[in-house]
Amino acid sequence: MRRFLPLLILLASALLIGCFSESGEASGDSVVLQTRLFAMDTVVDLTVVAPDEATARRAIDEAARTIQSIQTWGSADDPASETARINAVAEGYSGSVSEDLAATLRIALDIAAVSNGAFDPTIRPLVELWNFSGESSVVPPAEELAELLPLVDYRQVELVGDKLISPAGYRLDLGAVAKGYIVDQALLTMRSNGATAGLVSAGGDVAGFGERPTGGAWVIGIQHPRLPEQLFGALPLNNAAVATSGDYERYFELDGVRYHHLLDPATGSPARGLTSVTVLAPTCAEADAWATAVFVLGLEAGLALLEEQPELEGLLLYEIEGQLQQLMTAGFSDEMELIE
Ligand code: ADP
Ligand code: MG
Repeated sequence: MRRFLPLLILLASALLIGCFSESGEASGDSVVLQTRLFAMDTVVDLTVVAPDEATARRAIDEAARTIQSIQTWGSADDPASETARINAVAEGYSGSVSEDLAATLRIALDIAAVSNGAFDPTIRPLVELWNFSGESSVVPPAEELAELLPLVDYRQVELVGDKLISPAGYRLDLGAVAKGYIVDQALLTMRSNGATAGLVSAGGDVAGFGERPTGGAWVIGIQHPRLPEQLFGALPLNNAAVATSGDYERYFELDGVRYHHLLDPATGSPARGLTSVTVLAPTCAEADAWATAVFVLGLEAGLALLEEQPELEGLLLYEIEGQLQQLMTAGFSDEMELIE
């Protein structure tokens, strides 16, 4: 654990910097810049390492612009976004879509197929009914849920190149993959603007490339699902990405039952069984979507599907009588250092 401590402390102190603040420091032959912005309903921290100040500044500014661009296409909650405009076409949508939307939806449809529909980008009607992004704390009546279930089926949506056909009644929600996708895009933007290393952290989604300024891999902390101030483990990131989906991000409690925003398309209600899932993947889009997919699949099916795919590793946390339990893929336990 000791060798990870300095960076964990660095990340923790970075969290104390206020909104839109910036800090920079020179480290040997390179310049490190950090900035923070609010996007996608969460705090986004960017770190850039570059040979000189001007390059670092351009790389971090352009990466921040990339992140803000998600509002124009991916946020189904924002009526002006491309996703919302597609969803608003009552007779169904047939036409071309932007490159970002097509790329995100393609990843989502692939993972929907592999997860046998546990992950489903047409989940929107159910998301609107539960309305976790509002102040709602109402459990929808069973009849209303049952009515909407037939409108959640990724197999009805067709994407060929940039042409999308989505039948009447079907609505898209890319909320479980778009954040990871945009983290990947922000890193690509940093690279193409001359950064030698970079790290982006957006809520539970983190990805990095290159080495940290003092040498060695970036190391990220995994939040404890029940103790928000505490870290559960530390994980080095070697040009890879990590995302966590948990039942503690958006939820309400009613009669001792926790209702959260990760919905099981088979029942229309919050998926039961797990507390949080962390996935390590080559890209943040995959990590993000798989974290949601595995959460919905549950302990056995979720772990089995992770084990089947050599490029994915994962950590699954669950509770038995209030005690936190853990299961992880072999690759994940090789990488992670538990924090007691
Ligand atoms: P967060 O946005 O809190 O980081 P996730 O990445 O897991 O968490 O995404 C959760 C969002 O994904 C929900 O708010 C909803 O919009 C969408 N969603 C919920 N259930 C599913 C599902 N089964 N398949 C695909 N998307 C889902
Ligand atoms: Mg996700």
